[in-house]
Parts: sequence; structure tokens; C-alpha cells
Amino acid sequence: MTTVAECLPLARKACDYLTASPDPYHAVNNAATKLRVAGFECLQARKPFAGKMRPGGKYYYTQDDTAIVAFTIGTQLDVDRPYGFKIIAGHTDSPNLRVKPRSKRTSAGECVQLAVECYGGGLWHTWFDRDLGVSGKVLVRNGSSIESKFVLIELPVARVSNLAIHLATADERAAFRVNKEDHLQPIIGTKSVLEEEAKEQLQDGWTEFQEPELLSLISAELGVEAKCIVDFDLCLFDMQPAAIAGIKSEFVHSGRLDNLATCFVSVEALLTHAESSLAGDTDISIVILFDHEEVGSGSTTGACSPIMSEAVRRISSALSPKSTEDFHSAILRQSFCLSIDMAHALHPNYSNKHEKGHAPELNKGIVIKTNRNQRYATSLISDHILREVARRESLTPPQAFVVRNDCGCGSTIGPTLAQNTGIRTVDAGMPQLSMHSCRETMGTMDLMNGLQLFLAFFNHFREVDNQLSEGYCCDIEQR
Ligand SMILES: [Zn+2]
Repeated sequence: MTTVAECLPLARKACDYLTASPDPYHAVNNAATKLRVAGFECLQARKPFAGKMRPGGKYYYTQDDTAIVAFTIGTQLDVDRPYGFKIIAGHTDSPNLRVKPRSKRTSAGECVQLAVECYGGGLWHTWFDRDLGVSGKVLVRNGSSIESKFVLIELPVARVSNLAIHLATADERAAFRVNKEDHLQPIIGTKSVLEEEAKEQLQDGWTEFQEPELLSLISAELGVEAKCIVDFDLCLFDMQPAAIAGIKSEFVHSGRLDNLATCFVSVEALLTHAESSLAGDTDISIVILFDHEEVGSGSTTGACSPIMSEAVRRISSALSPKSTEDFHSAILRQSFCLSIDMAHALHPNYSNKHEKGHAPELNKGIVIKTNRNQRYATSLISDHILREVARRESLTPPQAFVVRNDCGCGSTIGPTLAQNTGIRTVDAGMPQLSMHSCRETMGTMDLMNGLQLFLAFFNHFREVDNQLSEGYCCDIEQR
């Protein structure tokens, strides 16, 4: 049995990653940096992969800087025989406030505000009265070329202020309803102070619509002239760093646990697998992290995109140049996807929100999510495979979640990936509280539970699946 103390080094690493990754750009970039440092080769997705990879190799590539595909090829993989892809899939995005395309906002009174848009289904009341920084990606003109730069302003430059209790009616206080357009626009300064430093703005159809102080801030951070900034995708984030918390350090508090805790653990699992168990591997172990799950996954970087099916096809055809359509279909049948997204732990103050028999607990292990109405992709076989993988290593057995019959069910990228690729999929995740809050909570030990299970999946999936496959054949022959 692993203790909290044994989980702390991993939890500290997780906190570092969470704090350093306030948006999908940084989440992907920080993951890519770890992979690169560990010797993963960066593939150029715009060029053919043929001739670029070999059994025993480890690689990654990114899509538009917010999605990433990282994989290892087992040294025992036979390129002439169908093999499988052991996939862990998650998402890099979280609900947040994003700067609108025209960041300048006309405000009442003395305060200067930024125009922001709500991204995803946040618990928006949790964004009030927090010290907010700004981060994301900026396009900068450099002579005749345009460069992409990541920006991370770790200063409390913005704040969404609450209305004083004395100014709210009793009904308003009781409801605490947030109008997403009117009440979430952050304050960044006061006019008299900012106007003292008023700057001339370009009239180029873009710059004049931007808050000049925002452009100044970015230009100072990036060391470029403000007039060279041509566009951006910027997020606001809570400045409070991720923390190990609780009386016995049994919790991690952070923004974006859904789903960066998964991104962190899955990349750690792939790194460990690459280091320790590639030698006996006959398959491809792959982590795919998508963007835009929180808004339905329909984008070039989301789970509805061809990223996963394309990865399987490109990698297998580059590795096995003689592969046919039939060969490719056999590969899909030998593959398996662990769709990992955070799960709802039982909340002691709202325990009636869970069905008693399927109420996951913090620090008690990964949760398999099932929904017979297919809001989750878990099936009889995929559920069994994950449990069996855990059993082989004597790991904490997975917990089970089914939503109450009288409550709507969330969903994940699992059903989307399963229907787009035909790859068997299980939906699972680490339990947490306060999902979609600006600051969420999970169990310290569940990071380790996740790492151990993901690693066991890479190490034992093939033997578990082979036993099952033999079972299928016997059944058919007996009939
Ligand atoms: Zn999620």
C-alpha cells in the first residue's frame, strides 16, 4: 500500500506542471519540453514520417501548439505483422476567461477593463476576487515574417471584483447568479493613471481595437515593440500556485486539474515506460492530448478532428510501408484507448448527488465511468481489460462511477474517439471535487494511482488482450 509520503515527490512535480501551464499552449509546450529532454525526437508533421522512425524509437509532434501526440515503438514490434496502439487520450483545455478579439472595453466610471469571453462551462462565481495573470500565444511581426510566441505574465494584472454584499438585494445574494457578459469583465487599472501614459495607437484595423495597456504588457514581456503584435489568443488564470494541502498533505489544490492532472500523469507514464520497459514491448504506446474538449471537441485540435485516426494511420504506414487497408484494419482491432478525464468524487456536503453504489472516493484510485446510454465509451470488454491490467500488478482496484438516474450525465472524448476510429475505449479518470472551479481539489495519492495504472496499461495490455482474443476464437470454434 502506497503512503501519502511516498506520493509527495510526484505531487510536487504535478504542482510544478500545473502552475507552469495556465493554458493549453503552455500545457503542450511543457509536455513537449519534458519529452525532448528525455530524448523523444520531434517529428515535423508537415513532412512525411516515412523513414523517420524505427522500433525502439520515441517521438512526438504537436498540432497547432495545443494538441500533442507522443509515442514509443516497442523494440520487439514486428513491422510485418499487425500490432496495436495502446492509447492514453486526454485534453489540455479547461474552462476559463479568454480575451476577446477586440480587447478594449468601454467601461462606466474610472476603471479600465478588458473584454473577455467565457470559454467552456466554468463555475464562474469562483473567478471573482482572484488575482489574475494573462497567458497564451501571440503573433509578432518580425520584418517580413510572423513569429509565434508564448506569453506568460505572472503578475496580478486583472481582477473580477465581487459586488459588495450591501449593494445586493436579498434575492441577488441568495441566487448568486452571474451574468456572463456583464459581471465577469476584469478590471486592469484606472483611467487617470493609465491615460497619463496614453500611447498613440496604429490605425490598422486591429490595433486600435486593443487595450493599449495590454499590448504594452505583452510587448514588455516578450521584448518586442507593441506595434509588432499582430494578433493573440490570451487566457486569464488564477495566480495562486498549485499546492499540496490537507492536514496530512493528502490533497492537491490547483486550477485546471481537469484535465491537466491527466496530461501530467500520462506524460510521466510514457516517460517511465520509455525508460524502463520498451525492450519487451511489441506495440506502440501513445499519449494523445487534445484541445477543445470543454466546448465539444469540434476543431482541428479537438477529439472530433482526425488527429487520432491520422496518428494511427501515419505511424503504421511509415513503420510498415507494405501495409494494406486490411493490415490497417487489423491494427485498429488490436488497439485500445484509455480515455482519461477527471471524475466526480463523493462530496461530503452533497453526498445525495451520488448513487451510493457508485460513489468514488478521493485517494481511492482511478474511476471507471460507465453509462449504458453511451455518454461514456466504457464497454463490458474495455472495463474488464482495465481492471485486469490493475489486477496483474496488484494495484488499487479501479472504482466505479455511474451517474444517478435522475441526474444528467457529463461526457468525455471517449465516445467521440470510439465512434471515429472503431478502437475499443474505456472512460476513466482520477476523482476530484469542484470540477470546473477556478481552483479544484484531488487526492495526492490518486496521482500515484494514475501513474501506476497508466504504466501497467502500457506494460500489460498486450498479454491481457491476447488472453481475451484467444477466448473469442475458442467460442467461435466451439460453435
Ligand atoms: Zn475534463
